[in-house]
Amino acid sequence: MDCCAHEGPGGGDARFDIKKVADGVYAAVASPAYKVNCNTAIIENADGVMVVDTHSKPSAAKVIIERLREMTKKPVRYVVNTHFHWDHWHGNEAYPAAYPDAEIVTNQITREAMVKKGLKRIQDHVRQVPAEIAKLKADIQAASPAQRGKLEADLKLAESYLAEVRALKPALPTIAFEQTMKLYRRDREIHLLHLGRAHTEGDVFVYLPKEKVVITGDAMIGWTPYMGDGYPEDWAGTLDRLAQLDFTHIIMGHGDVTGREWLTAFRAYVYDMVEAVRQEVATGATLDEVKQRAIAKLAPRHEKTFSAYNDYRPWRTGAAANIERTFAMVS
Ligand SMILES: [Zn+2]
Repeated sequence: MDCCAHEGPGGGDARFDIKKVADGVYAAVASPAYKVNCNTAIIENADGVMVVDTHSKPSAAKVIIERLREMTKKPVRYVVNTHFHWDHWHGNEAYPAAYPDAEIVTNQITREAMVKKGLKRIQDHVRQVPAEIAKLKADIQAASPAQRGKLEADLKLAESYLAEVRALKPALPTIAFEQTMKLYRRDREIHLLHLGRAHTEGDVFVYLPKEKVVITGDAMIGWTPYMGDGYPEDWAGTLDRLAQLDFTHIIMGHGDVTGREWLTAFRAYVYDMVEAVRQEVATGATLDEVKQRAIAKLAPRHEKTFSAYNDYRPWRTGAAANIERTFAMVS
């Protein structure tokens, strides 16, 4: 199986390109959607399937389940969540519904974050999406005929997302490990690792030593990282521990499958950004000054590298948010 975008049930916005990464190992790379979906990694073992991460809503996870049923008769036995963000675990409930014996696995830190922060954020979405819908309706009234089609499509997607998030039955992990969990299948080893804080306090990495593949969640993505719940000062060190592993292919939380060269570029940005903020803070600069000077300093080396997806998530916006988070943490 090489590719082909598949549309979600009911014509939703969840589309994935499924790419073979190694024997029995696939990346379902998510297309940009109205409510962002993460990538899913699919690992087909002799006795069943493991999937990593479940998107922003059950209907998106169901698109993957439909594809899995075309690929194999084997059941999903393990669903791994790399971290507690909504776009990586809101689809969890679709798996035990389709495969009653499926276990949902993450580390203890991430399970706690889901209980303490993740569940609350679901209620935040239930409260916030109606305002988003009202704004879209107002925008449609004011829109030119050329803009109207896109806004009307967004409105439909916002309304169906609201219906899904209201009906969500959050499926929390059924297995939580401390530092490391290793699965020894007949045909492969799967290591679930915590390498330190980065995108969240509990990031889980999935490592296949024989196939030389690593799955990173959002500790690595194809554009400028989101650091709103992150630990910028710890991030590069965590990636250095990742770099010590022997692998050739990286399945990231968002963006295309990549190789070690992207790890080098991504780590360099995170490290340089933190250093630039530290240096400016040491001079007593204000947040606005730090933002301006750090972006000027970082742009020559990093702006082009992080602009592969063009206007989708522009580097300068992301970098400004990263600098703000780092400023708050170092000063
Ligand atoms: Zn995330």
